[in-house]
Amino acid sequence: MQGHPHDPLIPSRKSLISTGIDYEREGFQTGVLRVPFSHDRSAYGHIPVPVAMLKHGEGPTVLLTGGNHGDEYEGPVALMKLLQRMPSMRIRGRLIVIPALNFPAFLNGSRTSPIDRGNLNRMFPGDRNGSITAMIAHYVDTELFPRADVVLDLHAGGASFNHMPTLLAALPRDPSRHAEYMKLVHAFAAPHTMVMDLLGEDRTYGAAAERHGTLFLCGEFGGYGSCNVDGLAIVEEGLRRVLHVAGLTHDDTPPPRHDTRVIAVNGAQHYLFAPRHGVFEPCFTLGQEVAAGHLAGRLFDPYTPWEAPRELHFGGSGMVVCARTFAGVEPGDCIALLASPAPLA
Ligand SMILES: [Zn+2]
Repeated sequence: MQGHPHDPLIPSRKSLISTGIDYEREGFQTGVLRVPFSHDRSAYGHIPVPVAMLKHGEGPTVLLTGGNHGDEYEGPVALMKLLQRMPSMRIRGRLIVIPALNFPAFLNGSRTSPIDRGNLNRMFPGDRNGSITAMIAHYVDTELFPRADVVLDLHAGGASFNHMPTLLAALPRDPSRHAEYMKLVHAFAAPHTMVMDLLGEDRTYGAAAERHGTLFLCGEFGGYGSCNVDGLAIVEEGLRRVLHVAGLTHDDTPPPRHDTRVIAVNGAQHYLFAPRHGVFEPCFTLGQEVAAGHLAGRLFDPYTPWEAPRELHFGGSGMVVCARTFAGVEPGDCIALLASPAPLA
């Protein structure tokens, strides 16, 4: 290769993903992240991940992403609508918008990428020389997070879940930033703000953003692999208020905010998993308050339907914030997630 920018004997850590977007240039730009993808049908090809950027003067950098999972639509739709307005928006600072970060998964309408089955939200900090999805994670971790002051990543339940519209929040490690962070949380003003417990999972986009010290928010705004009307409205209004409070859209007048109720997922007791294969009959609805020991549902064995179903009970108390879409379950499938009132800590 000619003109290589570094010593070929020293492995580069710089991302192989390139872009025509100049992150330092003033004004509105659209373009793509070019993820190199050499395959049977396209030897020198790449996957073009759409990205847009608006920069005016000095101010914070806000990064907005959707489509981290490809079957979650409120975020991507809200961001595509935002792109329509972006050229005429008056801002102070820099706004970077990627409506569908795992673009192959988004085009496929699936949680994971059809190319490498990669779940982008379980691949951080990514790998420069890894699979397509790992390369995208590495680019975000090395090129986008270091530029961002505030990051919002918009999710939903996807095909396998329906999720109550909920902002997910985690206070920054640095206590001196808590007040600034809480301003963003109250500005977004989702009906619920939830402290998630992923049972030790630290390969997420959010965990990586927090390692960079950015102010990070995400959220779940629907499910069933659809675009939820109410969830979309919450995302659009919340984004508008967050951009305003962050100081980016200083002369905007966003709609008034509502109160948010803070809840938390607290350990494995708040998860309901399937213990075996079967067909699950739920005895709860999304948003219902349940108590530890309450009947959650019955699990039928389709091969021996004359046998009494196995009863499943909730291990903890709280509100059902997330419920599985598919009645068919395998051992280890998450059927429901609970959360109970808690301080944001
Ligand atoms: Zn997701």
